Parts: sequence; C-alpha cells; structure tokens
Amino acid sequence: MADSAKATELDAVVIGAGFSGLYMLRRLRDELGVSARVFETGDEVGGTWYWNRYPGARCDSEAYMYCFSFDKELLQEWNWSGKYPEQPEILRYLSHVADRFDLRRDIQFNTRVTAARFNEATNRWEIETDQGDHVTAQFLITGIGCLSAGQVPDIKGLDTFEGDWYHTGAWPHDGVDLKGKRVGVIGTGSSGVQSIPVIAEQAAHLTVFQRTPQFTIPARHHTVDRDYLNDVKANYDALWDKARKSAGGFPVDPSELSALEVSDEQRQAIYEAGWAEGGFKFFFGSFKDIAVDRRANDTASEFIRSKIREIVKDPATADKLVPTDHPFSSKRALIDTNYFETYNRDNVELVDIRHSPIQEITPKGIRTEDGEYELDIIVFATGFDAMTGTFFKMDIRGRNDLPLKEKWATGPKTYLGLSSHGFPNMFMITGPGSPSVLSNMPVSIEQHVEFISDFIEYLRERDISVVEADADAEEAWVAHVNEIANMTLYPLANSWYLGANIPGKPRVFMPYPGGVGAYREKCDEVAANDYDGFVLGNASEHFARVPHESARIQIP
Ligand code: NAP
Repeated sequence: MADSAKATELDAVVIGAGFSGLYMLRRLRDELGVSARVFETGDEVGGTWYWNRYPGARCDSEAYMYCFSFDKELLQEWNWSGKYPEQPEILRYLSHVADRFDLRRDIQFNTRVTAARFNEATNRWEIETDQGDHVTAQFLITGIGCLSAGQVPDIKGLDTFEGDWYHTGAWPHDGVDLKGKRVGVIGTGSSGVQSIPVIAEQAAHLTVFQRTPQFTIPARHHTVDRDYLNDVKANYDALWDKARKSAGGFPVDPSELSALEVSDEQRQAIYEAGWAEGGFKFFFGSFKDIAVDRRANDTASEFIRSKIREIVKDPATADKLVPTDHPFSSKRALIDTNYFETYNRDNVELVDIRHSPIQEITPKGIRTEDGEYELDIIVFATGFDAMTGTFFKMDIRGRNDLPLKEKWATGPKTYLGLSSHGFPNMFMITGPGSPSVLSNMPVSIEQHVEFISDFIEYLRERDISVVEADADAEEAWVAHVNEIANMTLYPLANSWYLGANIPGKPRVFMPYPGGVGAYREKCDEVAANDYDGFVLGNASEHFARVPHESARIQIP
C-alpha cells in the first residue's frame, strides 16, 4: 500500500476528510494503488459533521441510507440508533470508517490547503498549505463539501457585543452552556429550525429573529429496534439500487398522482397521511407535480399553512410564521421536531425582522426598528456561502494562471459538476452542476468518487497524463442545468441554491435538479463513450479533442 506521509510528489491530493475524502482515499489508495494524501483543516475526520455541533444537529436523510454502501460488511455491522441520526452518531460512524479502512495514516489533519496552481510545464498541481507544505500531485480532488464556508452577516456593532456569539457551523466542541441565558437566534433555515426547539428547552429565554418564515414538515423521529435493522439489512441491495436510480437518492416510490387530479377529500387525506408519517415522504410520496406546477404546489403550501395555524396558539405569532413569499420546497425542504410547537412556550419570542429589520448589535443585544432585545448569547444560524465559497477560500489557479474565482465570477461553470475547463486534472466531488445538495449526499458522493477513480484508472491504463473538460461541453451542461431549474419552482425563492443569501453573489442556480438517476445515466454514458466531453491529452502531445454528443440529457 502507498504511504504518503513523507512524500512531496504524489499521484493525488484530496482536500477534505468528510464522506467524500474518506471514500476517495479508500478508492485511490487501496483499489488503484496510487499515492494519495488528504489534507483536512479539522483535527479529526467528519467534514460537515465535525463542524456542525449545534444543539439539535442531526441529519434529515434517514440513517439507514445516510452511510456508505461500498462495503457490504460495513453496512451489515453498523447499527443506527434511530430514524434520523444525530451529529455525534454520524461522527462516530465516520471515525469507525476511518479506523476500519486504516485511512488516518494518509490524512494530514490541522492543515488547510491555501493554494493550488496547475503547472503547465509539468502537468502537475502545486499545492500549498497553511502548515508550510509544498507538494505536487498529478490530480487535485476536492472533497470540500457544499456547505462549509460559514456566513456571519455583516451587522454593525457585532464587535461591541459583550456576550458570546457563535455560528452553528463552527460550534464549540465542548458545547455551550445555555442554562439561565438569554439567547437570540438569527436565522430559520435547517440549522435554525433544528436548534431552536432544543435551545428553547435549555435557555432561560429565547428570541428568534426571523427574516423568512419556513415551510417545515414534522420529522417524527423515533428510535429503531433490532427487527427494523434486520429488515433493512436483509434488503439493502434492493434499497440502494432503488436509491441510485431515484430522483433524490432515497429508496422511495415517487407518487404518480397529480395534486390537481384528485378530489379535495383525497388530496387532504394524502397530505394528512404524509404529515402523520413525517419526513420527506410528504414531498416525494404525495404528488408528482408539487415541485414543478405552481397550482399543485399551492395545495401543499396551503395545507402546511393550515397546520401552522393549528399548532401555534397565538394568532399573531402564527401569522408571522406562515410563509407567503415563496412556494413550499422552493427553498431547501425542511423537517423538524417541535419547531412550531416551540413558539407556544412562555420563554420564546419571535421577532419578524423582515418588517422590523435589525439595525445594529449593541453591547447588550440586538436592536431592531422596534426596540432593543437584551441577550447573553447570539447564535448565527445564518447559513453558508454555499457551493462556491469554500473553493474561493483557496487560491486555485488553472491554465494561464487563471484563478477559479475569476473563471466563476458570473457563477460556477462545470462539466457535470465534476470538472471545469481550464483546470486540468482537477476533479470536484459533488461540485456545482451535480445533484449534490438536492440529493441524499452519500449516494451522490459514492457515484462521483467511483466516476473519478474509474476515470483515473482509464487514464493510467492509457498513459494519458492530462484531462480537462471541453469548453463546449461545459457550456452545454451549464445551459442544461439552468434549463431544468427553470422548469421547477426553485427560481421563485431567494435561496442559497441561487446564491441569494450572499450579498453580491451572482444569481445562478448551482446544483443539478434533474435527479440522481438521470444524472448517473448521463455519467455512465460519458464514461462508456471514452469520456465524451472531456479533452484527453498526453503531456508531450497537443490535446486530442474527443468528439462528444451534446451534453444534454432528456428528462422524462
Ligand atoms: P440557511 O438555510 O441558508 O438559512 C439561513 C437562515 O439565516 C435563513 O433563515 C436566512 O434568512 C437567515 N439569514 C441569513 N442571512 C441573514 C441576515 N443577514 N439577516 C437575517 N437573517 C439572515 O442556512 P442553514 O440553516 O445553516 O442551512 C444551510 C443548509 O445546510 C441547509 O439548507 C441544508 O442543506 C444543510 N443543513 C442540513 C441539515 C440536515 O438536517 N441534513 C441541517 C442543517 C443544515 P432568509 O431565508 O431570508 O435568507
């Protein structure tokens, strides 16, 4: 086996030791036999699950599918405790994976990659870290996650605040003692919706500063027993097969029904059943047209609005919590445990900062147009500079010394979310333009890692040292992603999918919304056609243009 610890000339450098980096290392080192090193900023594996330790942090993919499928023994030996895994349990799982496959010896922790430049004379990447490493590698592979650059809004006066403040995505490892404290949470996305009910139980008083009200569905989390686990494990092959061919990476049967073709009673009964069962089945399993037809969506949106009014006892608070400015699921769909119920507690107050914006943070708390709210702790559940932010924290330069940040100045441009023209031998695991955040991530991560490692094997067998996305194929893919996004209701919301949460970020839909099944078929077809849409070339030769069909795929 390769041991990369001392080498400065590597076959591959992988950035990040979350789900992506761990599996990439396993494939490169143990199956391809190439030398690879992973650089990881944290002092442990885990990626997202290493950093996001806020109260209530858990995954909203069901646990039995939020894991690796590449090793059947691993699948059989790990036992999840409940329907939705909590952050510490996922972290334990990833640590177990690292131990089981002896991955840590090729991971350099506490090390941030600061720069990576493609040297056109050698056809190698030159990589620098904040620990003074200078290494070269034929391949640069990013496993940096889609949501890892935390976003603390630039609010006047934060530096004057006398209390403590935290971002959910960089939560202290020892936790935060909220007992007896007056806590303010800014933000009601996934992190806010998960943490607010738990913080409310611990703090003396909680003030939630809400800019956009959210649609959220009850998770109905529960623990699972041995019979459940045995049943899942006996059926894993079929479940994974179904998930890989599905839209969202879950083994669910999508509904064939239109919300507009059933009676009012039938529609209500279907929504009630989805609400009672909880989780994303409400979305996938109810009607086929919720995500694409505004009138169909209105029926689901209105159902959830009626539930909010039913749950929240104070009508004025309910009014503030009812979303009216975007359709259900056009922002990231949410599931929750006791979110709306939390607003019935005596120690919880909701402040509508859409109508009464935050003016400043004062030494004592937060001042809005309505007055000052005194706080001991501020929690920023304000999200991330998604999909591109972490790339831009590094100085990545391709051919002609072109910075990636410059190439993507008007929005990310990739072929299949895997590769960007002008950046040879660089692969992105779940990069912009791939299903990534619109799917159950491990399913998408495994597919990308396998595509990349198969591609590297193909190149090595043919002694091809350089590969790059073709410019036309990339343009066609970007246009295709936008075309599908425009067939959905996603563009109707101001979401991080479009970069709308970051002031000045170009409004471009970043993930691929055509579904993981269709996307996988496209990638398989590309591979079967000698990596159609990529330009392959030897170091000593000019690039040979590989003919390619249009990058378009038909979405049924
Ligand atoms: P988010 O979805 O981007 O939500 C950020 C929240 O902060 C929004 O309510 C936003 O309001 C608000 N906000 C942002 N800037 C603000 C400002 N300047 N002033 C006032 N409010 C501001 O971030 P997140 O909740 O951390 O979630 C990000 C993504 O991470 C999720 O969508 C999901 O993909 C992932 N995640 C997943 C899980 C899971 O269970 N698997 C858990 C947590 C996170 P607006 O809506 O008005 O912009």
